[in-house]
Amino acid sequence: MSRIAYVNGRYLPLGAATVNVEDRGYQFADGVYEVCEVRGGRLVDERRHMMRLAFSLSELRIAMPMSATALSVVLHEVVRRNRVRWGIVYLQIGRGVSRRDHAFPPAGTAPSIVVTARNMNLEAAEKMAEDGVAVISLPENRWARVDIKSVALLPNVLAKQAAREQGAREAWFVDTGGHVTEGASSNAWIVTRDGKVVTRQCDQGILKGITRTVLLDAIAAQGLILEERAFTLDEAHAAREAFITSASQIVLPVVKIDGRPVGNGAPGLVASALRRDFHRYSEIS
Ligand code: PMP
Repeated sequence: MSRIAYVNGRYLPLGAATVNVEDRGYQFADGVYEVCEVRGGRLVDERRHMMRLAFSLSELRIAMPMSATALSVVLHEVVRRNRVRWGIVYLQIGRGVSRRDHAFPPAGTAPSIVVTARNMNLEAAEKMAEDGVAVISLPENRWARVDIKSVALLPNVLAKQAAREQGAREAWFVDTGGHVTEGASSNAWIVTRDGKVVTRQCDQGILKGITRTVLLDAIAAQGLILEERAFTLDEAHAAREAFITSASQIVLPVVKIDGRPVGNGAPGLVASALRRDFHRYSEIS
C-alpha cells in the first residue's frame, strides 16, 4: 500500500506529493511543525499539540491555513488513509511560496501545509524501553527561541547524527553553565538519589513538550516530588535514573550518559512506571 500525504488541499501518493522549489519552508526553514502519537488509529493529545502549533505560528506571524476543525479532519483522514494503528502523524505549516527574498512575502501569500503519517514498530519500541537507551552530551548551539517548534533543525540533525555515530539514541544539549537544556528531539529528565523528579523549567530555552506537560499530571498523581529547574550534567551522572520524553517515544529510560551507566545501569522504576501510566493522563481523539 502506498503511503498518502496531504499537500495544500490534496491527498496524494507520497511519490507524487511535492512542494514548489520556492516554498519558504524549503528555502529558509520558514515554517513550523507538530508530531502527534497515533494510538489505536486515534490522536494522542491533539488539543494540546494544536495549541502549541497556534503558539509557534503566532510567534512567527504565519497565518493558520485552515480552521482548527478542518485541520483536525485532515489529520484524522491522513491517519485513516495510511492505516496507522500505532505511529505518528506529522504536520508542517510554512509561510508559503514566493520569489526568494528573506523578508516576508506579499500579504495574502497562502501558507503551505503538509501532513504525513506512518506506522511505527510497537514491539521494537517496547523492547527499547525495556533495555533503556544511551545518550551523549554536546554543547548547546541552537538559537535562543527553541520554544518555537520551527523546522529549522540543523543543530538537532547534527547532534542526533553524532549520537548515532557513538551508538546512542539521543544527544543532550548542555549550556555554557553546564546545565542540560533538552535532547535533540526530546525533553530531558533525571530522578535524584533522594527520589526527586527533575526537568528543566520551560522558557525560551527548551521546547515545552506536550509529553512533558502531561507527565507532570502523572507525576503529581503518583505522589512524586517534582522540581522544575535546570540540572547539570554532573547531577545527571550522579542521578538514580534518567529518561527522555517525546510524543513518539513517550517515556524512554536512559541507562547511559556519555558512556557511563546511570544508577545501576538498568531502566529505573520511576521512568518505567511513568511510561506504563502515561496514557491515563493523555487525551485521545
Ligand atoms: N524537545 C525537542 C527539541 C523536540 O524536538 C521534541 C519532540 N517534538 C520535544 C522536546 C518533545 O516534545 P513533545 O513531547 O511535544 O513531542
